[in-house]
Amino acid sequence: MSKKVYVDQDACIGCGACVAIAGDFGIFDFNDQNKAYVVKQPTSESEFEAAEDGKSACPVDAIKIQ
Ligand code: SF4
Repeated sequence: MSKKVYVDQDACIGCGACVAIAGDFGIFDFNDQNKAYVVKQPTSESEFEAAEDGKSACPVDAIKIQ
């Protein structure tokens, strides 16, 4: 799997949706500026789905998967 997940730190408003949705997979967390960042790149199908779900839930389209 070569896709990577990114969080645009300038766009993130720290709403927490991605952290809540994909939190069980440990993919997103908050940094010390209360912006989400990618803790761990997804490596399994279920982790990618969790990342996609987080991306879909983001109100400002700050999560990129490419
Ligand atoms: S859902 Fe989007 S705006 Fe909300 S914390 Fe995650 S990246 Fe930031």
